[in-house]
Amino acid sequence: MHTRALADGNAIPLLGLGVWQVPDGPECVDAVRAALELGYRHIDTAQAYGNEASVGEALRASGIPRDEVFVTTKFYPRGDDPAAAAEQSLRLLGLDYVDLYIVHWPAGGPTWAWPGLETAHARGHARSIGVSNFSVAELQELRAVATVQPVVNQVQFNPFVYRRALLEHCEENGIALEAYSPLGTGRHLGDATVAKVAQSVGRTPAQVLIRWCLERSVPVIPKSTRRTRIEENGQVFDFELSDDDLAQLDALDTTGGTGEALERKWW
Ligand code: NDP
Repeated sequence: MHTRALADGNAIPLLGLGVWQVPDGPECVDAVRAALELGYRHIDTAQAYGNEASVGEALRASGIPRDEVFVTTKFYPRGDDPAAAAEQSLRLLGLDYVDLYIVHWPAGGPTWAWPGLETAHARGHARSIGVSNFSVAELQELRAVATVQPVVNQVQFNPFVYRRALLEHCEENGIALEAYSPLGTGRHLGDATVAKVAQSVGRTPAQVLIRWCLERSVPVIPKSTRRTRIEENGQVFDFELSDDDLAQLDALDTTGGTGEALERKWW
């Protein structure tokens, strides 16, 4: 199991399965079960995804001890009580705690939800707490008022959105940047540069994009509902990208190395 230490002493597996846009029910249960059978020990869901019950069902069906699987859920920030929402997530998941509870996006500003996250943490409902879609400025605002500091910032991160300033700020402040949409929700798999690097290392474009995150110790959560792809996406710890491969991929960045988390906010 390849993990990264978090600033609060916990550890996050570097590879996880994301389940955004996976309908609650058999499709989600089967994807999570497949991932667990194939060795994944990290599942990324959210209150907004509506599939926490299926994630919990798959965890129980797997028979894997609870403490061997890292489960993330996210506070849906259109609600007003993050601590109560965490309890509802635990009921749906059928768990006593999640490993990571994060504010899904800074709707209404970066600070108001944080005391509720701290309450969930203090109650033992979340082992670690963090945020998602937070820029450098939003992290600074939050850190200035937080009692328990955020240890994760989950953001859109891949060679096309290589947010260097955000990554550096996170590294300097005890925050693990976690990469969502590592494949660009599938859009980047057909890119010519990615294909060229994939061919040179004898791997698939998906494996190259996932490995690009791992080369920077960035936890990464590709989504697939197909067993063969879940397996493919998990075979990323037995090869490396050279400095030249990384340079070619880094040059795909369209953000100018931004400290922003998103180019366009959806809230
Ligand atoms: P990804 O970048 O992981 O890409 C997933 C897409 O690529 C799907 O269409 C999938 O199709 C396809 N795919 C996956 N593996 C392969 C493969 N090996 N070969 C070919 N196609 C493949 O997309 P997401 O945007 O879903 O991001 C991943 C996760 O990040 C989410 O599921 C979620 O957990 C998290 N996330 C968090 C956000 C936040 O605001 N915090 C926002 C967005 C995502 P198929 O399933 O048919 O295989």
